[in-house]
Amino acid sequence: MPLYNSQQIKIYNSLSAEKEIFKPITEGYVGMYVCGPTVYSNVHLGNVRTFMSFDVIYRYLKHLGFKIRYVRNITDAGHLENDADEGEDRIAKKARLEAIEPMEIVQRYTVDFHNILNTFNNLPPSIEPTATGHIIEQIEIIKTIIDNGFAYVVNGSVYFDVLKYNEVKPYGILSKRKIEDLIHNTRQLDGQSDKKNPQDFALWKRAEPQHIMRWPSPWSDGFPGWHLECTAMSTKYLGQQFDIHGGGMDLKFPHHECEIAQAEASNGESPVKYWMHANMLIMNGKKMAKSTGNFILPNEIFSGDNKNISKAYSPSVARFFMMQAHYRSVLDFTDAGLQASEKGFNRLMEAINDIDNAPVSSQSSIDVNGWKQTCYDAMNDDFNTSILIAQLFEAVKYINQLKDGTESISKNDLSILKDTFHIFIFEVLGLESSSKTETSTDKLSGAVELLIKLRREARINKDFALSDKIRDELAAIGIQLKDGKEGTTYTTN
Ligand code: AMP
Ligand code: ZN
Repeated sequence: MPLYNSQQIKIYNSLSAEKEIFKPITEGYVGMYVCGPTVYSNVHLGNVRTFMSFDVIYRYLKHLGFKIRYVRNITDAGHLENDADEGEDRIAKKARLEAIEPMEIVQRYTVDFHNILNTFNNLPPSIEPTATGHIIEQIEIIKTIIDNGFAYVVNGSVYFDVLKYNEVKPYGILSKRKIEDLIHNTRQLDGQSDKKNPQDFALWKRAEPQHIMRWPSPWSDGFPGWHLECTAMSTKYLGQQFDIHGGGMDLKFPHHECEIAQAEASNGESPVKYWMHANMLIMNGKKMAKSTGNFILPNEIFSGDNKNISKAYSPSVARFFMMQAHYRSVLDFTDAGLQASEKGFNRLMEAINDIDNAPVSSQSSIDVNGWKQTCYDAMNDDFNTSILIAQLFEAVKYINQLKDGTESISKNDLSILKDTFHIFIFEVLGLESSSKTETSTDKLSGAVELLIKLRREARINKDFALSDKIRDELAAIGIQLKDGKEGTTYTTN
């Protein structure tokens, strides 16, 4: 029997602003869509936090036995500067500045994104669709929205008619904005725009002659609106209604609000059962963001090369730091916070080793099964990793008491304790043990030292054929051995 039958998850749904019991549309199956990055620059640690938050949610749902299809897109066109409907495409701008093809920019930062998420031990999604690979689907949705009367064409561009939509369905339902306030607060049109009303948003934009990322459509050679991409890709792979849609809090309005309006306007259904928003990582009191320069890159954390930190931290320590906060809380990035996390993480890893040597008795002095359920309860309560980690430290305390003999445990309970500890630390939180995160240089040097030792033994045994073979084959892969007075050393090129 799958575990989800015995665990009841509650999810904070941004749409209802309440924690709700999670009941997937189809029993046993979960469809989850998370807005992916716009690949025009290196991901910063703030971006990583959001993707890590959904990685843990994905991991926990998988652990409970759900068959989950996790779709996370790559935005490789249509996302303009300032999230606006005017201005330059972020990717095209970077390509222009570097005098290379937009698709070279896309490739470079997609690879960077994958490498970084992999370093943090995030699982890859089930499908990773690109916006440019789904232009046809986007055009089809626009046609339907026009046919249904919720969009209009001006000069080759297509805009969503927010006021018309609001006559039928409330616009602002997710971000809890009132249409009157939106009208009042949006800038008046400056005469340059083709929009009927300033709160309308672009579904399709006619490309100016200098705009290189362009596709043919019934309305013009142009490109899709950013909001439409996610509607097209989520509904294509997960259906017109699916279970979970996630993203950072900053995407709630207008991006996700527009997604709801587009889906409703094209097929009359609210697309998502549970809207989930991860909160922001802040630094020096402000949101971490590329645009303001207030950010730290993951590689700077691993090297320690950034003025905001005093030393280097491993990916697992940075991940542990993030996991210590609940995904809906704002998290302040500080050096002191990372140092504390490093200590905590090391204590957890020591406890993992200590479990293996814990003495067993005929009886247990604590309720191991009760403790195990508190770990599930923490995750069932809107994926509260912060409380989960507090429960894991309860077990660390217990493991230490077993060592000094003040508490006791039966063989069976010890194996439950060990399994639960491993499940939550490695499988659910996605942390990696310190030995696994040892750098590849350490591993390489260990392997070369071993070969040097074997070669020395071969020479002592006068097996010069073998000793030369070791030297030559290492040289062939770029590792030079050098024999000196102090013994053999090596260099790599
Ligand atoms: P972008 O590539 O700018 O669309 O951002 C990718 C994801 O990172 C989105 O889900 C954003 O909400 C999220 N994000 C951006 N800045 C932060 C931050 N400081 N903290 C957490 N998430 C962020
Ligand atoms: Zn999106």
